[in-house]
Amino acid sequence: MLKAFLFDMDGVLYDSMRGHVQAWHDTLAAEGIVVPPAELYLYEGRTGHSTINLLFNRTFGRNATPEEVERIYLHKAQRFNELESPESKPMPGAWEVLQQVKQAGLQRIIVTGSGQQSLFEKLDKHFPAMFDRDKMVTAYDVKHGKPNPEPYLKGLQKGGLQPDEAIVVENAPLGVEAARAAGVFTVAVNTGPLADDILWNAGANFVYPSMQALADDFDAVIAASI
Ligand code: CA
Repeated sequence: MLKAFLFDMDGVLYDSMRGHVQAWHDTLAAEGIVVPPAELYLYEGRTGHSTINLLFNRTFGRNATPEEVERIYLHKAQRFNELESPESKPMPGAWEVLQQVKQAGLQRIIVTGSGQQSLFEKLDKHFPAMFDRDKMVTAYDVKHGKPNPEPYLKGLQKGGLQPDEAIVVENAPLGVEAARAAGVFTVAVNTGPLADDILWNAGANFVYPSMQALADDFDAVIAASI
């Protein structure tokens, strides 16, 4: 029996991925690491630490030191805040999806790799009375980033859920992989520049071009998941 939706945040509830990708791109360029923005979308969902090490190994043939990781991640966060000032915009269609989930009597749980201090306040401002502070998985709750299933397993745990009692909404290939590895039915919304095939190949059960398209087809998704 379906009891909950687990929502990824960036690229699903907020139209913030262009900002994250640009911030990574600019920060890494200053370190002498050249990465096309389109490639950075493939890394979405990894921890900052893991993305930095992957690119350090490719470019310099070694891991980054802890000091380098800290410095680069801090610069990335600062650059993101400059780009998104004053804050990220809610994704078109996200409110419509959330309202349908709520009207269906289903829990809403956030599963994000983000570690912003004021995350809940931001969510509650843009999506009032939709989320419960105790039912969020953030960077502080997990050791492994996506595609490890840990973030989604923690989300299920916080909701008291079995994998077949939930639906995940994700935009990133590694996020879809993580959700599928946790055994959860997964709807991908392709809100970025990647080809739909990448999301299908990651294991998505559905791929929609936008959150609005998911809202418009909501009943079909529920029917297919049970
Ligand atoms: Ca995302």
